Amino acid sequence: YLTEFEEQTVKSKAIFQKAKEIMPGGVTANIKSFVPYPIFMQKGKGAYLYDLDGNEYIDYLLSYGALMLGHGHTDIIQAVQKQLEDDGTLLFGTPHHLELEMGEKIKTLYPSMERIRYTNSGTEATLLAIRLAYAYTGKTKIAKFEGHYHGGYDQVLLSINPSLEEAGHPHAPKSVVESKGVDPYHEEHTIILPFNDLEHTSQLLTKYKEEIAAVILEPVQGGFIPAEPAFMHGLRKITEELGIVLIFDEVKTGFRLGLCGAQGLYNVKPDLTALGKVVGGGFPVGIVGGKEEIMMTSAPAASSDVFDSSQSRKSSAKDVLFHSGTYNGHPTVLAAGLATIKVLEQEMEQVLQRTEKLKAGLEILFAQRGIPMQAIGAGTIFNVVLTEKQVRNYRDLQQADFATRKELDFRLLAKGIYTKPLNRYNLSTVHGDKEINLTLEAFDTVLSQMTK
Ligand code: PMP
Repeated sequence: YLTEFEEQTVKSKAIFQKAKEIMPGGVTANIKSFVPYPIFMQKGKGAYLYDLDGNEYIDYLLSYGALMLGHGHTDIIQAVQKQLEDDGTLLFGTPHHLELEMGEKIKTLYPSMERIRYTNSGTEATLLAIRLAYAYTGKTKIAKFEGHYHGGYDQVLLSINPSLEEAGHPHAPKSVVESKGVDPYHEEHTIILPFNDLEHTSQLLTKYKEEIAAVILEPVQGGFIPAEPAFMHGLRKITEELGIVLIFDEVKTGFRLGLCGAQGLYNVKPDLTALGKVVGGGFPVGIVGGKEEIMMTSAPAASSDVFDSSQSRKSSAKDVLFHSGTYNGHPTVLAAGLATIKVLEQEMEQVLQRTEKLKAGLEILFAQRGIPMQAIGAGTIFNVVLTEKQVRNYRDLQQADFATRKELDFRLLAKGIYTKPLNRYNLSTVHGDKEINLTLEAFDTVLSQMTK
């Protein structure tokens, strides 16, 4: 089934050989790679991507969900151009009005975020959230759920995609390191929890309550396996009772589950939230926010200046939680993000409806051919999961038929439907009825090829 894909992407194949001489594995992020080779794109416009060989694709990867208005939306381009012309790029590292403008928007849509700080990526946002929780509670462990991703650093690079042989008992999963080079300290100090299993999650949290500073979770695992409402409300209750900070990683779900993210949908107030992706309008961004009391640990101490390497320190470093970054609150990024939110305030509902239409259409196509498939998701993200079994967590997902899904994905690439093989589907404001119908037609053709 790779023949058609390879025939259409000869230039990508050739350039990938060169790329491997420049970057390890030919890519700048491991996730961008796939076998036999990734497609090199040269242009994005609206809902479409164009590769080096001139093939056109409807893009459902959308830069791992970041591009909620598709490629090159004029409102974003204009906002960025205006910002660059008016004020230049970095405003000389000073505070500026866009930090407030975005902050007010965030506080309105995410009322749990009483104070905020900007970072440059989702990774940095969850990292800062965890440091805030350590600082606030004085405890030394964190807990995360099996299968949940929060960025590429040691504290959370555990049990994201473990093999079932290594993963331990489903009720008390083992901490499995996901990368070479991770400090073994974190394997011991990160408790792994079973998602959507309130009974065993509560048991583990209670057992380690004196040590666990925070529970961090993706309210919708991988953007497509939703927390069940009873689980979510139960988790909020028990973390509150045990004095554990609850961190929502809404890097994916923020502005994608709805304007107000998972917390809006579930009506649950986390103590801390990490945002990213959509809120940067296609530029690197992260936002951390939460309870004033916790966030204030990052405020410069009233009695002294912030840490400044050119001055001697006036108070102990232990008095202040360190948070800094040359590019934090970058005005170009915030201008793009504000333009994005403005469009979403008008068009979010329509994207949600179109996502449901596509999911329903796909389920019919698979059902007609007797192939077990669930279009599982929430908001404007879903996944095509080939299984009859109910999928509530990482372990359930392992039952799905990934081999058939992979074949499907490569055949779809050859028909102009782009997502990275085995990845999720993200929609945008510019995925209209036309694109949805074309997508359903492509699936129909490919499913016919596969069931011949
Ligand atoms: N958390 C979640 C839930 C994510 O999906 C991601 C990115 N895929 C991150 C954190 C890390 O964000 P970034 O890639 O911007 O560092």
